[in-house]
Amino acid sequence: MQVHQILRSKPKQSVITVKPATSIADAARLLAERRIGAVIVSNDGKAPLGILSERDIVRDLGRRGSVCLTDTVEALMTRNLVSCENSESADSVLEKMTAGRFRHMPVMDGADMIGIISIGDVVAARISELAMEKDALANMIMGN
Ligand code: AMP
Repeated sequence: MQVHQILRSKPKQSVITVKPATSIADAARLLAERRIGAVIVSNDGKAPLGILSERDIVRDLGRRGSVCLTDTVEALMTRNLVSCENSESADSVLEKMTAGRFRHMPVMDGADMIGIISIGDVVAARISELAMEKDALANMIMGN
């Protein structure tokens, strides 16, 4: 299974991004409203500058308290983004996520971001693939 198949199985929507100057409070509101765990930081919606996840916000809230809510996303985001390509395999994405201990990954087409996938998307896609393989094997064994 490849990344483009995982993207295709997700509801069609453009990637949600925030600008670097967005406040942490506004970013947290967006995460809650959209029921997502991370957001890509970008000026033009295409070139990612970083990623801000709920973990970044919780970590800073725990360290410094609510004062962090008026900071900008730029101050808290992770800049060294690990990304993947459309043709990459689900297993390779899972390996990168496990090695880097993160659960979100932008999908790139050259310099442009074309989607974002979460570990939940990858696991759900692998489970449905395994179920299809199981059915195919069962049918072969039963001679269907
Ligand atoms: P997550 O598990 O995705 O909520 O993120 C855990 C930590 O990894 C946070 O500090 C994120 O900013 C960071 N992070 C999330 N996704 C990525 C990624 N694709 N590349 C690099 N860092 C990431």
